[in-house]
Amino acid sequence: MKYLILGAGPAGLTFANMLLSSGEDDFLVIEKENSAGGLCRSCMVDGSPFDIGGGHFLDVRDPDVTKFVFGFLHEDEWDRYERDSRIDLYGDIIGSPIEANIWQLPDKKQERFLHHIAEAGCNRGEPMPEKFTDWIEWKLGLAIAEDYMLPYNRKMFGEDLDSLGTYWLEKLPNVSYEETKRSCAEHRPYGTQPGHAKFFYPHSYGYGEAFIRMASALGDRIHYNEPVFSIDYDNRIVNGKYSADKIIVTIPWTGVREHIGLPGKLTDSIGKLRYSSVVIEYVPENMDTKAHWIYYPDPKLSYHRILVRHNFCPGSKGYWTETNLTRFDEDKAAEEGRTYFVNEYAYPLNTIGKQELMKELLEYTASKNIYGLGRWGEWQHYNSDVVIRRAMELSIN
Ligand SMILES: Cc1cc2nc3c(=O)[nH]c(=O)nc-3n(C[C@H](O)[C@H](O)[C@H](O)COP(=O)(O)OP(=O)(O)OC[C@H]3O[C@@H](n4cnc5c(N)ncnc54)[C@H](O)[C@@H]3O)c2cc1C
Repeated sequence: MKYLILGAGPAGLTFANMLLSSGEDDFLVIEKENSAGGLCRSCMVDGSPFDIGGGHFLDVRDPDVTKFVFGFLHEDEWDRYERDSRIDLYGDIIGSPIEANIWQLPDKKQERFLHHIAEAGCNRGEPMPEKFTDWIEWKLGLAIAEDYMLPYNRKMFGEDLDSLGTYWLEKLPNVSYEETKRSCAEHRPYGTQPGHAKFFYPHSYGYGEAFIRMASALGDRIHYNEPVFSIDYDNRIVNGKYSADKIIVTIPWTGVREHIGLPGKLTDSIGKLRYSSVVIEYVPENMDTKAHWIYYPDPKLSYHRILVRHNFCPGSKGYWTETNLTRFDEDKAAEEGRTYFVNEYAYPLNTIGKQELMKELLEYTASKNIYGLGRWGEWQHYNSDVVIRRAMELSIN
């Protein structure tokens, strides 16, 4: 065939649908699960939608992407929300992002945060540190680092934060002492809005519905229950039986057992890629809040985020939690009959050296007409809208 697409998540589904809409039907998608959507899949739990890969919202910011998605799940089938996300700072609940909402804290805590923002290395002209943990303090001050960023990131990504680089954080805004002081005095937020300031969520379905529809548009051009275990790079043959002119890899490189013909150095590079796993658990009680989601840096709580389902799924109850697998007692949860889903591949980790390693890998594979695409193919923290945009661009180039 002309194109073989590995993985039926948003990346693979978008790429395949772009081919189809350009009149190309000589392709196949192969997927290890029995349904499409990847991390964006949903199911029904307790009579309402549940996103098994964690809370998923469609950012409104890219009109080409929303138009593409609405082509499968019509715009009228989505509700539009103004983001209400909060941080539970050990009992003090304030808006997110933290730097814009310090004014909501009790006075004593505001003073502490302000003091440390003034002392932050970047505000005092100190050189930028190399390590993630030092960098956070340099950028945001000791109080934000200690009370929020470090414990939260440890809970989400795992304990070894020093293996992470700082290149992925450079877009974080500088926290200005003067502006924070003014914000505290005037009791109002300041600064730029975070991603998902406005977002869409389907009115009567989970987020995964859009991708189920993308998959059904492909008919029998998806083979399910077909895990990829080998790629032959010189001959472009997958699992010893599928061969194609071009292969699009949207699955994790680390999940493929046999890399035939790949130079040893690059196979070693794949072995260095790291990721973290997340468990999503359903809790049937309602919460007394209007927030869509709440972040929890407190290390005593196993989960790091709660998604308040009844505030974005009309007619639903309960909430769901996101917990790093290493902090989740699966045996106990199973024994107690709780409802949870394990996502082995949740976050590609931005370890030191990853960018160079991926660049080399992707340049080599592209020379063989094998292209990495999406969260795993490119090993990047892309949200689904970015993955869709990248898949749209790859198909038209
Ligand atoms: C907790 C959490 C919250 C998120 N929230 C948001 C949000 O609010 N908004 C948003 O836009 N994005 C969000 N994302 C990101 C979003 O999930 C991803 O951007 C998107 O799913 C990436 O699409 P993908 O196709 O690249 O990868 P995936 O969705 O991971 O799809 C990969 C596909 O490949 C398949 N596969 C894997 N291994 C193999 C194999 N060996 N053989 C065959 N098939 C295989 C998988 O089963 C899957 O179907 C969130 C992610 C997480 C973890």
